[in-house]
Amino acid sequence: MSNQEKIYLDYNATRPLRYSARQELVQGFELCGNPSAVHSSGNTIRRMIENSRDTIAQALKIESRRLIFTSGATESNNIVLKNFKGRVIISATEHSSVYKVRDDAIICRVTNSGMIDLQYLEQLLLETDEPTLVSIIAAHNETGVIQPLEKIQKLTQKFNACLHTDATQALGRVNFDWNSFDFISFSGHKIGAMTGIGILVINPDKPLCPLMHGGGQERSYRPGTANFLGILSLKAVIQETLEEDWSSTKKLRDYLELQILDISPLSIIFGRTETRIPNTCLITMPNVNSATQVMSFDLNNICVSAGSACSSGKVKISHTLKGMGYSDDVANSGLRVSLAPDATKKDVDHFISIWKKIYLSCSDNMHVQSGTNSVDTTTHNTPVYNNSNKSVFRIIDKLKSYCLTTGTNKKNEFVQGIKEQSSFKKKHHHKTKNKVHSNKPAILQFY
Ligand code: PMP
Repeated sequence: MSNQEKIYLDYNATRPLRYSARQELVQGFELCGNPSAVHSSGNTIRRMIENSRDTIAQALKIESRRLIFTSGATESNNIVLKNFKGRVIISATEHSSVYKVRDDAIICRVTNSGMIDLQYLEQLLLETDEPTLVSIIAAHNETGVIQPLEKIQKLTQKFNACLHTDATQALGRVNFDWNSFDFISFSGHKIGAMTGIGILVINPDKPLCPLMHGGGQERSYRPGTANFLGILSLKAVIQETLEEDWSSTKKLRDYLELQILDISPLSIIFGRTETRIPNTCLITMPNVNSATQVMSFDLNNICVSAGSACSSGKVKISHTLKGMGYSDDVANSGLRVSLAPDATKKDVDHFISIWKKIYLSCSDNMHVQSGTNSVDTTTHNTPVYNNSNKSVFRIIDKLKSYCLTTGTNKKNEFVQGIKEQSSFKKKHHHKTKNKVHSNKPAILQFY
């Protein structure tokens, strides 16, 4: 299939460059000059950067001097958390660029639906007078859950703590008064600007130590030559980001969820009872692991994600879902669908039909586990990628060939077969023990 036929339902991972950004970039490509240079070419670039800062600040209704350009939300989050002198309280469901920054961070628990436990946060704030930073994600990248930031802000004010929010997924999808935070992180590529540009909103009265040292650019918060083109692209998209209408997307997302629940009433939609950003749905396919789902969808030209996209390209169990109290098995069967603002019903219907095929295909295979079906797993034409893990594949292949050569299709006979294959056992026993646990459905598919 050509690239054009792909259905992209992974907007929370990144969204395509907007047309306005492209246009702005075409003009920007013609220019050259280091904004720190004294000559006129440098001056031109410097002025364009400052104009962009003013335009973005105006759109966000924030003072210009509070905006620092960074490489993205990861960097902005790190600048805020890394060198903060004092206690840092974060939620159990923060993005890894917050979650992993400080080993000494105090984790505030969340409810089963992903909401911050405000009473617990208050208890934590009561504990000491030490300077404290609270960092809470505004809208969750996996579940879409929006946190009650006004209430959190009242608490931090009461206890004189600093408040940071990672608003990467919230910008343009939730209306907040951005002035009520000390620090905010935004990312360009989530709103249709270039990758590699982001914003950190600072509070000049509460200075932070920079991560890097060098020139004095960005008021020394972020030394290094500015990403001029990235900044231009951000300026180009900011207003339309804030004016975007997501109402039809929300209807489609709700429709998608109802349809899937109809197919699979046991599916869990995380955070469904809370207010969520309109395009996001994190839903389980019972007993089918996330990697299997993502790859099966990919084989069907649909781009979706297993919770947060992982830098290594692997799918790991989400600390978010574990933080919300779900078991590994449940956490490992979640699929994130994040719709575009112009998503169509046709695309969503296609997604639902493929979801159903994958689900039924895997369910069929699970029947085999009980020894009632044959080992033929090709009951549907839809390609299904059975597992992401090569070693598990090898084991499945071994078992399949054992089965084919012996004509066996019952689980206990397989197990006996495994026992007989001592070399197989020696090679793979430990690996599979772990992998079987985290990739249970793959084994179920074969059995
Ligand atoms: N925070 C959240 C909530 C995100 O969704 C992401 C992107 N996955 C990031 C931070 C990191 O953003 P960036 O790619 O700009 O570093």
